[in-house]
Amino acid sequence: MATKRDYYEVLGVAKNASGDEIKKAYRKVAIKFHPDKNPDDPTAEDKFKEAAEAYEVLSDQNKRARYDQYGHQGMGGNGGGPNMEDIFSQFGDIFGGGGFEGFFGGGGRGQGGRRVRKGSNLRIKLKLDLEEVANGVEKKIKVKRYVACNTCSGTGAKNGTDMRDCGTCHGQGQVKRVVNTMLGQMVSTATCPTCNGEGKVVTSKCDVCNGEGRQLHEEVIPINIPAGVAEGMQLSMNGKGNYPERGGVAGDLLIQIEEEPHELLKRDGNNIMFEQYISFVDAALGASIEVPTIEGKVKIKVEPGTQPGKILRLRGKGIKDINGYGRGDQLIHLSVWTPKNVTGEERELLEKLRNAQNFTPNPGKNEKGFFEKVKEYFQ
Ligand SMILES: [Zn+2]
Ligand SMILES: [Zn+2]
Repeated sequence: MATKRDYYEVLGVAKNASGDEIKKAYRKVAIKFHPDKNPDDPTAEDKFKEAAEAYEVLSDQNKRARYDQYGHQGMGGNGGGPNMEDIFSQFGDIFGGGGFEGFFGGGGRGQGGRRVRKGSNLRIKLKLDLEEVANGVEKKIKVKRYVACNTCSGTGAKNGTDMRDCGTCHGQGQVKRVVNTMLGQMVSTATCPTCNGEGKVVTSKCDVCNGEGRQLHEEVIPINIPAGVAEGMQLSMNGKGNYPERGGVAGDLLIQIEEEPHELLKRDGNNIMFEQYISFVDAALGASIEVPTIEGKVKIKVEPGTQPGKILRLRGKGIKDINGYGRGDQLIHLSVWTPKNVTGEERELLEKLRNAQNFTPNPGKNEKGFFEKVKEYFQ
C-alpha cells in the first residue's frame, strides 16, 4: 500500500488556506484529472479520487481540525476514500448548478441530481482445468452484451440530437416538492416522473435502437486469468457489462471460476496431492517410477525399504500462489499395494517369504509412526 499524501499537498494549498481557497484549488485539480478528460491516463482517476478525498476532509471544519491534529491516522477506518458517486455528488456545491456538466458533457451528477446511470452487470461462469489454474491462462470469451447504439451515440434520439430538456424539471432530473410539516415547510426533492431523472426527453426516436440507445452485440473478450484462482472466486472486468438505456456507463463483467477436477491429481490449497501405489517388492527393493504432474510425467526414486504412507515432495510442482507468494509443491503419498488374488506359483513364492528373517514386522527406532507422519505433513 502506498502511503497517503498530505491533503494540503494534494490540493496545492497552504496549511492556513481559507475555505474559499480550498474550494478553488479543488475545482482546479478536479477539472485537470477528471477521468472523462483523461481517457489515456490510467493514473488520472486515482489523482481525481485523491483530490476528492482531500477536499472532503479539508472542506469540513471538524474533519480538518482532526486531520491537522492527528494526520491521516485521525481520519479513522482504512476505507479507500469516497467512491465516484460520492465525488460527483460533491460537485453540486463546487461547480454550482450544472456548471460541471456543461464542462464535461454530462458526466457525473450536478446539483440538479442527474446522475450517472450504470448498466447491469453481466455474469458468466468459466471452467478451468488444473493446468490452467496452476499457471494462469488467457481465455477468449464470447459474450452477448448491450453496447451503446452507435447511430445515436447511446442517446436514443434520432441523429443523437432529437431531444430537448424535460419541461417538468427543466433539465434538472429532479423536482422539488414543498411539504407542510409541524416544523414548518420542508422542501424535498424527488426524481422527475416525466423523464425518470434523465433531464432530457427524446422528441424523435432513433430507428436503429428504437429509442433504447443500446444494442445487443456479440463480442469476444480476452480475459487474463491469474494463476492460483479457486472454485467460486469472482473476477470482475470494469465496463464490460451491459450499457444502460439512453446513456451512462456500462456495468461490469463478473466471471465466476469453476474448477474442473483432474483425473489423477487433487488440489489442496496451492499443493497438489497424488496417491501412488507401489508393490511391496518395489517398496522393499526400491524402484524408479513415473508420476504425473501438472507439467507432465516426472521420474521419482523409491528408496529401498520404503514404508507405506511415506510422503515424497516435489518442490515447486504445485500451483502458483494468487498473491505471488511462490508456488506450491506436489506431495506424493506412497501406498503399498497388496495383491488380492495370487496364483499357485505366486503363493509358493510368498509362502517361502512368510517366515523369511526380514519379513517379520520389526519397526526400528527410526521408523516414523502415524502421528509423526501427520505432523510432518502439516509442516
Ligand atoms: Zn440508436
Ligand atoms: Zn424531467
